[in-house]
Amino acid sequence: MSYSSVFFKNLIKFLYGGKDEFISEVLNSNYKLMPSMPSGDKLLRFLNSATKHVPYYRKHFPRYPNDPQKIFDFLENVEFRVTKNDVRNNVYDFLDERIVNNRVIGKSEGFINNVVGILNSQSLIRVNTGGSTGEPLSFYFTRKTSFGRILRVLATHKYWGWNEGETFLYSGQGGAYADFGMLQTIVKPAGIIIFLPDKLNERSCDRFISLYQKYKPKAMFGFPSQFIGYAHYIQKKGIQLDSSPNHIDVTGEMLSSTEREYLEEIFRTQVYQRYGGTEWGTVGAECRNKNGIHVTENDFFVQNDSEGRLLVTTIAHNDFPLIKYETGDKGKVIYDECECGLKGKKIVNIEGRIEEHFLNSDGDVIAASYFRQLVLLANEKYGNIIIRSQFIVEDRKSVLFLLQLVNKNNQAEIVKLLEENIKSFLKMSVRGEVKDDIRNDRKKFKFLIKI
Ligand SMILES: [Zn+2]
Repeated sequence: MSYSSVFFKNLIKFLYGGKDEFISEVLNSNYKLMPSMPSGDKLLRFLNSATKHVPYYRKHFPRYPNDPQKIFDFLENVEFRVTKNDVRNNVYDFLDERIVNNRVIGKSEGFINNVVGILNSQSLIRVNTGGSTGEPLSFYFTRKTSFGRILRVLATHKYWGWNEGETFLYSGQGGAYADFGMLQTIVKPAGIIIFLPDKLNERSCDRFISLYQKYKPKAMFGFPSQFIGYAHYIQKKGIQLDSSPNHIDVTGEMLSSTEREYLEEIFRTQVYQRYGGTEWGTVGAECRNKNGIHVTENDFFVQNDSEGRLLVTTIAHNDFPLIKYETGDKGKVIYDECECGLKGKKIVNIEGRIEEHFLNSDGDVIAASYFRQLVLLANEKYGNIIIRSQFIVEDRKSVLFLLQLVNKNNQAEIVKLLEENIKSFLKMSVRGEVKDDIRNDRKKFKFLIKI
């Protein structure tokens, strides 16, 4: 199905908050996936801004050579890194102090605030890791950075063969927190269909298939486990798909080669992996050869530590800069002259996050991110009170959750909020307890336990 590409481009310009070199490049149909290496000057500008305006780096980042020729070597070798815990412990110290007091747009901020906020490109948008990383965490980006990240996703899809005005279907995990209500309505006339099922069951599969048959998407993107679920359903019911997309972009979790082949067969399409994370955005993507992630080096510096972990520096993000950030994934960064014509850094053999699922007594498949969203909801309401949380699915009928809180104020209300949501949504019996520490003896911790 086709929509107006002019409307699409104008909407994106509005949401992004104006026109600059980056958006012109993305909306230009000749966009190339991988711009060249950044200049040393660009990296220096990024580090200068971070160490001057961002309290955490001002305090902790070591002195560095003010020399564009040496700065990449320095970054490669310097003993410094940022972990998720560093960010969790004080997320505001990672924000540029010139924007830290700006208006926040989000679900609990109220309608009027959000309408006023969306008109200002410096408003902060709260972004949560509701995906498949360890524990839930909130980040803040300006509206410009947030939509800049979406632009990068669109740019990747243009590289694979989608164009503005062609239908784009996004399938993500819905739940207690995700509320795209307003955005969903705004982007639909541009051909962007957002589908956020709470759980994977016959009803959500039917709904997905009716959207698919109606809109005949040219491109799709979302969690691989959801697409695998839809594909199984299509096969089981012998459903004939009326169209096939140009490609499916899977991200957020890893996909095995058998799963990829299966999706390609059922949807008669190409499946590509894009690598990124909520905190740092789209680092790169596969080309047609599907043999590793080409890194967008102009905007990201990617490297390994001695243990094979992936560290990311977000050269293009000044408002929430991450320097040598531990992504939580492993993978090998190599230099490659690919047959597709691109030369540069590639990430191969990524061992990443695998989203955990469980079943309720109706046999619905529920992603662990549902629980993460509940924790975020409570943290938003009660000011980041939950330090750690653990959900134990005892059998298909009952859930026990344990919470570690900053203090005991509102303890009963918080437990009740979670219990009520779980009870009405999952149709399982539920019990919550507050503990002083929920890590085990070796101070290890697991978010979801299935018994
Ligand atoms: Zn290639």
